[in-house]
Amino acid sequence: MLNIVLFGPPGAGKGTHSVRLVEDYNLVHFSTGDILRSEIADRTELGLLAKKVMDKGELVPDDLVIGMMRNKIKQNKDAKGLVFDGFPRTTAQAEALDRLLAENDICVSAMIMLDVERQELIKRLQKRAETSGRSDDADINIIQNRIDVYNEQTLPIVDYYKKQNKFKRIEGVGSIETIFGRIQKVVETL
Ligand code: AMP
Repeated sequence: MLNIVLFGPPGAGKGTHSVRLVEDYNLVHFSTGDILRSEIADRTELGLLAKKVMDKGELVPDDLVIGMMRNKIKQNKDAKGLVFDGFPRTTAQAEALDRLLAENDICVSAMIMLDVERQELIKRLQKRAETSGRSDDADINIIQNRIDVYNEQTLPIVDYYKKQNKFKRIEGVGSIETIFGRIQKVVETL
């Protein structure tokens, strides 16, 4: 199975390239952000809790996100592969992901990081706000906080995957085609 963690800061292009990976390699896409937003739209208990945190650009507690992923992985253990978009976001989540996959006799094939510098991310997220309808894209303070949270809480995961020899860094600037070409090159080595 081809199980890819597509990693990077908010605005790096994880969603865009996940869609391409899913199409080209026939994989199943898990975006924790999308799942949480649909919980909010359905006004579930989890959604109500998540909204308060997401509105500030903070992270939803690990146990909630991990619990959410447990069933999704189990239900899709016979797929050709999985793309994780926006998960894991903490080292505890990365450890949990390994455990959840091992329970189903599968593992992460690679963690692909889309590297984009801060000013470019801010520019992209402000542009995305015009069409995304996401309140966390529309407020510069929330954007700044999301990037800070990424640098402080999410970036340390790089070391976790480096130790497993699964870390692959990609330049996340250029045309969508160019960037996806870089991703394909990595995937073809797996
Ligand atoms: P995203 O759509 O990936 O930009 O996620 C939007 C928001 O959802 C984030 O700013 C977090 O508040 C929350 N979120 C998404 N994925 C996670 C995760 N793996 N762990 C904690 N919070 C998350």
